[in-house]
Amino acid sequence: MAKLTVLGSINVDHLLQVAQFPRPGQTLEAENYQTIPGGKGANQAVAAARLGARVAMVGCIGDDPIGQTMKQGFEADGIDTSAIDSVPGEATGLAMIYVNAQGENNIGIWPGANGALGSDRVAAHRQAIEQADLLLIQLETPTESLIEAAKLAKAAGTRVVLNPAPAKALPDALLRHVDIITPNETEAEQLTGIAVANDEAAAKAAECLHQKFGIEMVIITLGKRGVWLSHLGAQRLVPGFRVSAIDTTAAGDTFNGGFVTALLEGQSVDDAIRFGQAAAALSVTRLGAQSSIPTREETLALIA
Ligand code: ATP
Repeated sequence: MAKLTVLGSINVDHLLQVAQFPRPGQTLEAENYQTIPGGKGANQAVAAARLGARVAMVGCIGDDPIGQTMKQGFEADGIDTSAIDSVPGEATGLAMIYVNAQGENNIGIWPGANGALGSDRVAAHRQAIEQADLLLIQLETPTESLIEAAKLAKAAGTRVVLNPAPAKALPDALLRHVDIITPNETEAEQLTGIAVANDEAAAKAAECLHQKFGIEMVIITLGKRGVWLSHLGAQRLVPGFRVSAIDTTAAGDTFNGGFVTALLEGQSVDDAIRFGQAAAALSVTRLGAQSSIPTREETLALIA
């Protein structure tokens, strides 16, 4: 079976469900509170593993009990955790998340141990990158080590997929090593300066990413509308699945995990997008990050 390595953040999410987001200076009692495993890297690794991929995770946890709990969670999902480092004196990364009655979220992050995922650790775990068929990365860990990881992958013939989230400016040195990029509308605007307000603008933003950085495939995720695909000189909207959303946290992560899983199985780009979108649609019908990620069986049932 083809191998996937996910390099990225591991967080614990503190999730408060509220009727509406608190205004500045306001204190609001929440309707529900849960701690749920999260972090973009971890979510994508868990999504891929639940959806059928063989996955290794490269990342950092703190030397605290919650870090160990997160690691055990990965193992329960069948993920190889041998490249997860426990960082002395650091706390496991965390996110404070509000979800309102409309299912929208509002998030603050403390990176904690994720900030220790530097080039030295990437070099120490280079085998996990070089032996993979595909490397999936995001932007919640230090940029210089993402460049290092992408370079190692490229030199070893490992395909590089970048989910450029959360939105931030990126050096050409990273983007030049990327084969497939999967921004949402905000992230596409951050990278290209083009506001993705309609299909024409999405096409322009995708073209910019192809031309400027030589990226082979661009997939701009558009929330419930679906995704904009630009590949091999053709561009089009691929609609998503219609569901009733309660919390969109980790929709993008679930899409990425599902999409790369299907690609690694040798499915066509169209089928891989359909699989990723089906999994993401199911995830928005449930609360939380990793708690919302569906199984392969549930996803296949939605597609059928
Ligand atoms: P997030 O940051 O909330 O994880 P994102 O902004 O990275 O998400 P989106 O574009 O919102 O990513 O969503 C990714 C994919 O998830 C979409 O392309 C779509 O397939 C699916 N999706 C998201 N929201 C919905 C929805 N309300 N109904 C159905 N599918 C959805």
